[in-house]
Amino acid sequence: MTFPNDALAALAKAVGPGGLLTGEAIPARNRKDASKAAEGLPAVLVMPRTTEEVAAVLAICSQLALPVVVQGGMTGLAGGASPQPGEVALSLERMSGVEEIDPVNRTTTVLAGTPLTIVQEKAAEAGFLYGVDLGARGSCTIGGNVATNAGGVQVLRYGMTRRNVLGLEVVTADGRIVSHLKKVVKNNAGYDWTQLFIGSEGTLGVVTRVLLALQPAVAGIQTALCAASSVEKALAALNRLEGRLGGSLLAFEAIWPEYMEAAAKHTALPWPFPAKPEITLVIEAAMGPSETGQEAFAEALAELAEEGLLDDALVAQSSRDRARFWAYREANYEFYRDMAPGIHFDVSIPLSAMETAVALLRKRVAARSAEALPIVFGHLADSNLHLSIHSETMELSGFADIVYELVREMQGSVSAEHGVGILKRPYLGMSRSEPELALMATLKRTLDPGNILNRGRILPATA
Ligand SMILES: Cc1cc2nc3c(=O)[nH]c(=O)nc-3n(C[C@H](O)[C@H](O)[C@H](O)COP(=O)(O)OP(=O)(O)OC[C@H]3O[C@@H](n4cnc5c(N)ncnc54)[C@H](O)[C@@H]3O)c2cc1C
Repeated sequence: MTFPNDALAALAKAVGPGGLLTGEAIPARNRKDASKAAEGLPAVLVMPRTTEEVAAVLAICSQLALPVVVQGGMTGLAGGASPQPGEVALSLERMSGVEEIDPVNRTTTVLAGTPLTIVQEKAAEAGFLYGVDLGARGSCTIGGNVATNAGGVQVLRYGMTRRNVLGLEVVTADGRIVSHLKKVVKNNAGYDWTQLFIGSEGTLGVVTRVLLALQPAVAGIQTALCAASSVEKALAALNRLEGRLGGSLLAFEAIWPEYMEAAAKHTALPWPFPAKPEITLVIEAAMGPSETGQEAFAEALAELAEEGLLDDALVAQSSRDRARFWAYREANYEFYRDMAPGIHFDVSIPLSAMETAVALLRKRVAARSAEALPIVFGHLADSNLHLSIHSETMELSGFADIVYELVREMQGSVSAEHGVGILKRPYLGMSRSEPELALMATLKRTLDPGNILNRGRILPATA
């Protein structure tokens, strides 16, 4: 598709000097997100500085029926921000900054292109905490987090991004600015339209400004590395800990033994326990600053061991120990590089079916190929598994059917937290019914009748 010259001139005018690039001048970072989606050169890259400029860009694109792909930090894992041929890439990278921290209302107002880590740092400087944290914190943006309803490692305590958003400013496909940034917790005055945009992956509108809730800063985080002989026992331990420690549990991460084997083989991390457990857990709780916090945490874990729910538990005595325990949970970023090529999944499985699902996964993968290796870990408390299947010899895409069929059987979700984007679109029907998909298509047509925004992401390009 040749890009119309009059459109180029109008877009350049809308975003001002330095706000538009074409051809080889478009940086590599705007051509592909962090997923395995193919790299694509957009027809043009626009980088507005204000909400009004975003509105002007979308008004032009809507009038001229130009498809638009919205870009944040490009850390997405579903291919949603990777450009398709002929698209206008609209990047929020020049709309970055924490505009306000309001200590009384415990809120912060943030421009959509602000990296998550900046929001976390500014909140901490003011004595608060922002509840969402994920590995891509240095590059992902708040707008991208909202668009994907990002989760991460503290969902157990603070929920996904959705629970931390009090208000939004968005620009609709035709260039209208719609804003609701009221600093109130309760607001039942009509439809909560803001929720519709959270997790909509840029298909319904462009998020330009976000009002986030802040939490009191947490002191005295206690961390433990524990061993459990089954998912059932790990979940029983989770329930007991939640009852005993109230709302102070921050993380309850699970690692299956194939992952630990890979970590032991490809990294400097040894097996931490004398025996090799079915489930290794990283458990974290906010227990107060003093030694008494550590004592209470250790006591709670000892009780679980006495009850036979945990086989072993190491409680961190220092920040070095804490980093060492988390190194197990984050080792995958290192060992994937040395393993056979892999295909990666981010799925939800009901907790009641988790044990059966992992057993069936192992069995079905082994039946397909004796050499293929499933690696499983995840945010157990959130029923979220990150799993991958590695093989030197097999066509990796063939494993997608095994995994998604299992998810369908177990009544789970094909995307727990990374979104659907382009890569998971073919599988959406395995965790959503026809009436649900039809309702989604109706919402899309209503808010974006020209189908210009992130076309082909979540729903088929023709929906
Ligand atoms: C190392 C690593 C660790 C990760 N860990 C986690 C994790 O624990 N939990 C988790 O949920 N995700 C995780 N992710 C995935 C990713 O970081 C999140 O999906 C993140 O929210 C994407 O933010 P982004 O700014 O990079 O968005 P992008 O990748 O730029 O975009 C993602 C999607 O949002 C849309 N979008 C972006 N900005 C806007 C906007 N302002 N308005 C409307 N639509 C927009 C894009 O079009 C695209 O569809 C991880 C990724 C990496 C690389």
